[in-house]
Amino acid sequence: MEHVRKPEWLKIKLGGDHFSETLNIVESHGLHTICSSGRCPNMGECWGRGTATFMIGGDICTRSCKFCNTKTGRPLPLNRNESSNVAKSIQLMGLKHAVITSVDRDDLPDQGAQHWVDTINKVKEVNPNTTIEVLIPDFQGKMHLVDMVCDAAPNVISHNMETVRSLTPKVRSAAKYDVSLSVLGRIAENGLRAKSGIMVGLGETTDEILQLMDDLLSVNCSVLTIGQYLQPTRKHLPVAAYIHPDEFRRLKEIAMGKGFSYVESGPLVRSSYHAENCL
Ligand code: SF4
Ligand code: SF4
Repeated sequence: MEHVRKPEWLKIKLGGDHFSETLNIVESHGLHTICSSGRCPNMGECWGRGTATFMIGGDICTRSCKFCNTKTGRPLPLNRNESSNVAKSIQLMGLKHAVITSVDRDDLPDQGAQHWVDTINKVKEVNPNTTIEVLIPDFQGKMHLVDMVCDAAPNVISHNMETVRSLTPKVRSAAKYDVSLSVLGRIAENGLRAKSGIMVGLGETTDEILQLMDDLLSVNCSVLTIGQYLQPTRKHLPVAAYIHPDEFRRLKEIAMGKGFSYVESGPLVRSSYHAENCL
């Protein structure tokens, strides 16, 4: 595929009131956030607002999605101190809203569900005033595992569809479109706010995006994030198109018109961007 040049609107800006202070805390305590390890372009803004994202379950994923820069392979055993470390990090960073995600642990009998529960409980115990959003894997569609996480009662549970139906097999290594929809439906059935995120610029059509919106609403997923896909390395899927900011605004308007309660849509939007706003 022909190389598509990166446009001006994707240039990164760092800064924000609270940013340097938080960066100092993170660096001096050896804390690990997705924001800094993934060099997320929104770090200045999110940290300035008191939001950051942590990864649990280690840093090696059993899956190998074609858009994702996380290491793939045989993961290490779970680190039992990880829940406490995340809870302490949130406290040290003084976060108002913490987003927690994980690698996929298809190697574990419960796909890591109990570790999720332990982490949510520990974060709540240490940070009673911090709101929590968890971005969970599909747990291979095992609904009793989704229920376990729902029972731990985080404020929001998200599970990303990542892309439209037709591109799912090419973009995601093991996840299935309908399984992901069922996970979101189950979260909503449990009375929790279900949220999902997609990337655009992978070659999808607008009609496919609109169909995805309808599919999400049909399972009562009411919060949506839409961001530009960026190729992490040359080994990953190429960018098919850089979507103009005006088109992101248009997609947001359409989504709100269809009935979503909250939508973030823009070139640099990631699933945890402005996450606290959907509460
Ligand atoms: Fe961190 Fe998410 Fe904000 Fe990026 S968008 S800085 S990963 S909280
Ligand atoms: Fe990355 Fe998640 Fe796919 Fe693992 S399952 S490769 S962490 S997107």
